[in-house]
Order: sequence, then C-alpha cells, then structure tokens
Amino acid sequence: MSRIDWATDVLSWLPADAEAAVADLGAAPYRGRQLFQGLWRGHLASFEDLAVWPRSLRQAMSERYRLQRAVPLAEQRAHDGTVKGLLRLADGESVEAVLLPHRYGWSVCVSTQVGCAMGCHFCASGIGGRKRNLSAGEIMDQVAWASAVAPGRVGRVDLMGIGEPLDNYRETVRFLRLVHEPSGLGLSYRHLTVSTSGLVPAMLRLAEEGLPVTLAASLHAPDDALRESLMPVNRAYPVAKLLAACETYWERTGRRVTFEYLLIQGVNDGTALAESLADQLTFPAHVNVIPWNPVPEHPFRPSPPHQVKAFCDALLNRGIPCTVRRELGQEIQAACGQLRRTGALPAPT
Ligand code: SF4
Repeated sequence: MSRIDWATDVLSWLPADAEAAVADLGAAPYRGRQLFQGLWRGHLASFEDLAVWPRSLRQAMSERYRLQRAVPLAEQRAHDGTVKGLLRLADGESVEAVLLPHRYGWSVCVSTQVGCAMGCHFCASGIGGRKRNLSAGEIMDQVAWASAVAPGRVGRVDLMGIGEPLDNYRETVRFLRLVHEPSGLGLSYRHLTVSTSGLVPAMLRLAEEGLPVTLAASLHAPDDALRESLMPVNRAYPVAKLLAACETYWERTGRRVTFEYLLIQGVNDGTALAESLADQLTFPAHVNVIPWNPVPEHPFRPSPPHQVKAFCDALLNRGIPCTVRRELGQEIQAACGQLRRTGALPAPT
C-alpha cells in the first residue's frame, strides 16, 4: 500500500507543516497558522478563499499544492438526530461517517480505510476487502463534515467506522494529533476512542505514544475457538495475548480499556460466557454490549432484550462495569458499509 506523502497532503498538515510550507514561499510562519485555522475552523475549500492572505501567497500556494476536500454525496437522517454521511474523496472513493447525538453532546464515528482487511464474519465492511488507507487529512475531513452538519459542537470522535484504525497506524496517530491541535478543533485526547479488532503489536505501540486516548478492543467472545469463528484476527492474536496487551495499555496510559461485545443470539450471548469473561478481566475494564443489528448478508439474529440484560447482569454481579450501547439511528444505521454499497445513492460526479 503506497505511503501517503505528508509533504503535499495539505489536509494532513500540522501547524508546523503549514508554517514550513508558507516559509518556503517566503511568507511569515503565522500565515501557516492562518491556513490551519482556515481549514479546520473555517472549512476552507480553496487557497483563494483565504481572504486574510495576500493575493500573491494564495496564488503561489495554488500553483504548488492541491487542496481537495471530501464532498458529501448523500446524507441520511434519523428521527433521533443521527446523521449518516457518505463522502467522496479526491480519488473518487467514498467513505462513511456517522454523527451521533448524546446527552453530553455530539460525537462522530469516522472511517480510517476504504474497505477493511480484517474479514470479521459479522461485518458488512470487510466483504470487499481493503482498498486503501485514508490519510490523516481524509479522516479529519469526516470530522469537519460532522461539525458542519451538527447543531452543536462535536466533542468526541470514535474511530469505529469502516476499517481497522491500527492497520493504518501512521495516519491514525497523525489524525489523533491533528484533531487534538488546539488551534484547530482542539478535542481532548480523552474524548477520542480508537477501536481495534486486536492488532496486538500496534496496540502496544500506541500505548507508548503518550496519547491518552481510549482504546476499545472488539472482543465479541472470551475464548479462542468462538472468537476465531467470528474474527480471523484471533488466529494471529488470541484472547490471552489481546487481554495482556489491553492490561499493558492501561498500565502505560492510565486509561481503562473498553471491550466491545456484539451480542448475537445463540452464538455468544450465554451467561456462562459472561462469567468466563469476568474471570479473565483482572484489570480495570469496561464492557460495552452492542445488540446485533441485522444486515441482509448475515444469518445472525439479535439477542432478545432479556438475554442482553442477563449477560450484562452477569458481568455487573462480578464487579465488571457493563453498559448496553443505545441503538441510535435505527432506521438508517444497518451495518457500516451499507450506505456506501447501496445502489440508491447518486453516482459520483
Ligand atoms: S468489524 Fe471493523 S475490523 Fe472487523 S471487518 Fe468490520 S470494519 Fe474491519
């Protein structure tokens, strides 16, 4: 997979990169900071629109760099305020992002790759495989879309959309720094969540980055045989290794790890499995139970509400914090990847 060139990828620039670029054209460094602010606070669409710059600098930048922002192709709105967006990237590929309402404000769930290589058996996004990584700027542009659509400030970002963020490690980490940058969107690291299917080496590397973001590990089963039947990644990184990496992450960052657990009727929703999970969680952790959301491609069925409650209660009785994810945007949500693959969307122009 080709490496993204940060020297020319304007949307992936940190303020220092923007300062260096304008300095190379003979302008003062503060002009670079104006560009960064214009991109993420003003949704700048072209250098020409940066009115605070002298015409000569706008022209010189336009001649040297291309600034291409993601274009919204379609939006679906649910009654609860959830908005799902399909965004076209500069090369014609498209990605999804979902704006979500909460009691505490707005969050956005963003994609990190076009497609996904992990092949989780319950996921619609992995069906076509991974096409390419997104740049940090392309991930940022999804947050910018959400900020433009949301009635209030988007204060949290979950890297839980299409793709495995840690399979796109370099751009994911750069994105975390970009979205945190105080002169841009300025989101707290504590309000950023990186989801992973369990790429252990990358999890351990992230633990050493000095970024106190929340790590959310997709577990979905507490034993290897069952987890492997759902997630091929378990062959390379079995449950014990995954849990050890999560414990290390907690030790190094002080951040309690979240375990995502999709509940599928008759597959992984037995209370004996909840007990087994509780036995293995010997460090601070939180389990986020997600009721399965049916998609046509899969035969799985959602666990009935009483089974969801029994599973969660079994964990709570053992002192493991457990919450059930609210089902937002039910009528539009389906699985990640569905909007991108539906034929009901306008063709890219
Ligand atoms: S669940 Fe996530 S990691 Fe697994 S295939 Fe889907 S997008 Fe990839």
